[in-house]
Amino acid sequence: MLRALWDNVKGIYSLLVGMSITWGFLFSPRKTVHYPRQVVDSEILKSYRGPLELIPDQAGATKCISCQMCVRACPDNCLKVVKSEGGKNPKTWIYDFSLCCLCAACVESCPAGAIRFSHKVYLVTKTREELKLDLLADLKARKSAILGNVPKKSS
Ligand code: SF4
Ligand code: SF4
Repeated sequence: MLRALWDNVKGIYSLLVGMSITWGFLFSPRKTVHYPRQVVDSEILKSYRGPLELIPDQAGATKCISCQMCVRACPDNCLKVVKSEGGKNPKTWIYDFSLCCLCAACVESCPAGAIRFSHKVYLVTKTREELKLDLLADLKARKSAILGNVPKKSS
């Protein structure tokens, strides 16, 4: 009898603890957004590690010198950098985001400061294959987008 009573008291106490946590979250500011009606605040995204991207130099070209340091540092074998013939810049820069654990070993090992984490939080694909990203093509597209957004000088 006493044992059953004690079990009931413990059950009610446990329920009250659970409900206090639930009610606490119910009235605290929301941490999620209703995408696509809302988007994540750009200030919050500054610390977000999205897929890697190449950092452009002044001319908008890649700073990568194809040294392979990032490829060797990557524990997940998700990078492929192929040097162009007769030059130091890469002709191929493929990054498999589906394998990446976002450890930053590649970013930290790069002597040229050529890669960083992007803030792309809305990346969606239907297949793993689509997560093999061509970062040179991405850099080119970003450069075109920037040039396209430059206002034309009035004569
Ligand atoms: S963040 Fe880590 S796992 Fe991802 S590509 Fe760089 S080294 Fe590899
Ligand atoms: S470590 Fe840097 S410079 Fe070397 S291949 Fe990787 S991105 Fe290019």
